[in-house]
Amino acid sequence: MNEFEMNRRNFMQSMGSGALAAASAGLAMNLLPTAAEAAQPVAFPDNWDEELDFVIIGTGYAGYAAAIEIGKSGGAVTMIEKNSVIGGNSVISGGGFACWTDMLQLRQKLNRGEDSAELHYRDTLKGGDYYNIPDLVRVMANGAPDALNLLIEEGGLELRPMLNRIGGHSAYRGHISIDGTGKTLIDAQTRIANKYNIKVRTENKVARIWRKGPQSPVEGIQVEAGRRGKRNIKVNKGLVIAAGGFGNDVAMRSLFNPNITPAINSTNQKNATGEMIRHAQSIGADALQLCFIQLYPTADPDTGALDAYALYPSRAPGNGGIFVNTKGVRFVSELERRDVVSRAEIATGAGRTYCIFSEAMIPRFTVPEELETGLKVKRVLKADTISELARMAGLPEKELEDTVKRHNQFFADKKDPQFNKPITPQMIPLDKGPFYIVAQWPSVHHCMGGLRINAGGQVVDIWGDPVPNLYAAGEVTGGVHGSNRLGGNAIPDALVFGKVAGAAAVAKAPKA
Ligand SMILES: Cc1cc2nc3c(=O)[nH]c(=O)nc-3n(C[C@H](O)[C@H](O)[C@H](O)COP(=O)(O)OP(=O)(O)OC[C@H]3O[C@@H](n4cnc5c(N)ncnc54)[C@H](O)[C@@H]3O)c2cc1C
Repeated sequence: MNEFEMNRRNFMQSMGSGALAAASAGLAMNLLPTAAEAAQPVAFPDNWDEELDFVIIGTGYAGYAAAIEIGKSGGAVTMIEKNSVIGGNSVISGGGFACWTDMLQLRQKLNRGEDSAELHYRDTLKGGDYYNIPDLVRVMANGAPDALNLLIEEGGLELRPMLNRIGGHSAYRGHISIDGTGKTLIDAQTRIANKYNIKVRTENKVARIWRKGPQSPVEGIQVEAGRRGKRNIKVNKGLVIAAGGFGNDVAMRSLFNPNITPAINSTNQKNATGEMIRHAQSIGADALQLCFIQLYPTADPDTGALDAYALYPSRAPGNGGIFVNTKGVRFVSELERRDVVSRAEIATGAGRTYCIFSEAMIPRFTVPEELETGLKVKRVLKADTISELARMAGLPEKELEDTVKRHNQFFADKKDPQFNKPITPQMIPLDKGPFYIVAQWPSVHHCMGGLRINAGGQVVDIWGDPVPNLYAAGEVTGGVHGSNRLGGNAIPDALVFGKVAGAAAVAKAPKA
């Protein structure tokens, strides 16, 4: 038994049987209405339980960005959240933010090369196999710096003095929050939101959108509000759907992409389900590309979680780290896109692959305290030599040594004839220990498809016309990322389009 296996066994023992049962029950959960339920005629409410001005469904990055924009204009905002805590996938994210410039001028200070909005735009289109809607990508790339600067300037966000080149990006534009968590970004957003008296209601699940007919505006929502039961709320000025993706909606993801089998874990929060896409579709909204569901290639093989250590394999390769399979050999260009790496891993059939990096790379993408914790819980293993590292991880020593030697030669030759990985001057060879290894495996991560919006943040109907009074932003929408989202691009997407949707709701709100 190698040390990773000991770690897995301890983990399974530490989970009680109740927790395991709950986890498997969660997997089997189907939150879609049955066909019979969906076919029931629905009566428009005769009267409303309550009236609100602007309502935002979801309290992640997109929801808060919209709320802040509306709050700044003086609008009264209520955010509705089905979970008992705010933040959705945003609060558990890694806080990696792809942005081609920033007010701190990190790229210039760290000497990380050239970048531009145009390059970010082109990388994103290429990374999405050109299925992306170019106008939407343009809005994201152009708007990313303002979105990041707002959090720094008004929200007190701090960043690590690091910039990484994430797979599929052709420049070093991966910013990281000071503690490597998305919570820090949500904290910055809530600090800003607090200035505008934005109200948040948790444990309120939106269960319907009210619209009378194909030409009419959205008039309200139905909310399941715990013990208060079902309540119909009139939304007078604008409804923004910022309800996130459906990575944990096993029924929905299987329906659109049967290749993503129920056995595949997910990195998402457990209530990342797709009912808001369905409710919007039921009142005429269009959706697109729902089959494009991303696997995160380097999650924890045992749990599917994207913990702090699962982020190392997305940051180490730009600094010289490598991926190997259970035979100790490289199997893909480590700077490839997530879908390419995930497919290459699944093709190994082994249930786990590994990322190897060295001490010299560490200051480029993590901090010593975080790494220490990873070593303590054996998510990360450390050794002075490659052969010792191989022994600890249960990999063949000679093969791993040969792999590392061969890869080091690529630095001298300035090319990788094996997988054609770009060898950049920022990369460090694996020629001096101590060395580190992290196990990794794909897990369902991001839904690239979702509601169709225009570049002004309005939800568009199946005829291509905006649905009056209805806006959407973030992972619940589709079209920004095409077939494959590049790492660090979800956060600018959610923040930029949240702001766009909020601004559009204000501009188009019926005047009192
Ligand atoms: C573990 C992890 C790490 C990640 N790391 C990164 C990263 O480093 N960089 C990056 O760019 N991206 C990352 N991502 C992706 C990114 O975090 C998400 O795409 C982004 O947070 C989505 O933001 P959002 O506001 O659209 O949705 P969310 O943050 O998911 O918020 C949606 C909210 O809506 C609520 N909701 C849904 N339906 C209803 C309903 N019917 N009624 C009421 N409320 C509802 C949900 O409960 C949720 O709280 C990561 C994702 C995960 C899971």
